[in-house]
Amino acid sequence: MDNKFEILSDVTREYSEDDLGFVIFKGNILVKKTSNSSSIPSMREIIEVNLNKNDKFFIGKIGDKACFAMDCDSEPRMPENFQLISLRDFAINSEEYLFLAAGRANQILHWNNTHKFCGSCGTKTENKVDELAKVCPSCSNVMYPVICPAIIVAVKRDDKILLAHNANFKNNMYSLIAGFVEAGEELERTVEREVFEEVGIKIKNIRYHHSSPWSFPNSLMLGFVADYESGDIKVDGKEILHADWFDIDNFPNIPEKFTLARKLIDAVMNI
Ligand SMILES: [Zn+2]
Repeated sequence: MDNKFEILSDVTREYSEDDLGFVIFKGNILVKKTSNSSSIPSMREIIEVNLNKNDKFFIGKIGDKACFAMDCDSEPRMPENFQLISLRDFAINSEEYLFLAAGRANQILHWNNTHKFCGSCGTKTENKVDELAKVCPSCSNVMYPVICPAIIVAVKRDDKILLAHNANFKNNMYSLIAGFVEAGEELERTVEREVFEEVGIKIKNIRYHHSSPWSFPNSLMLGFVADYESGDIKVDGKEILHADWFDIDNFPNIPEKFTLARKLIDAVMNI
């Protein structure tokens, strides 16, 4: 199987039994256990155990296999070799292309479940017949899958990097400064604003690095790097409890390898 996930959205696509089914139930994904790993079940296997309850969405291809996202109304009754695992555990133990496909499945299903009625007039929506969107049969309002942009930034000061402990982090973990883009805001201003609001310092030389979807449920993370300009670290005490400059010899716990935060940290610190 090609180790690449290609995003496609042909709403007329029918599944064949060899295609792959990404079944999501309450933030968990259905996998088939083999001796020492797990795999995404085929549509045939999903049909055999009668798990395909709700809408199916074609989300793309892996090699010549089409990928379909679907969820269930209630916890599926699974044969012994099937298991629901958290998307986080799936991310840690899977190849990146499978995590991307699972993330897109989760994002599309979350959008499907939160757009069953028109936000303008309240009428029940329908799936559009020619593109991945919902349409209101009463007022013609069209609703596309939701994507919320957020920035994350690696700030450098000489050979050190700014890392912060967020109030929501477990295990005394430290990560980069991040935050959602405000309506009407330029990305570079978001980067400056978030850093100043959370740790009270000014930065310069803001450069875009790369991006990564974070489909839990619908963020798109835009990764930047920047340099320290002025000011002393002063945390807000609510969102950020502690922040400091760290060099490679005194690193705290940092996010896992599949996250954009970790990729940025590794890139700027040459880890
Ligand atoms: Zn409407």
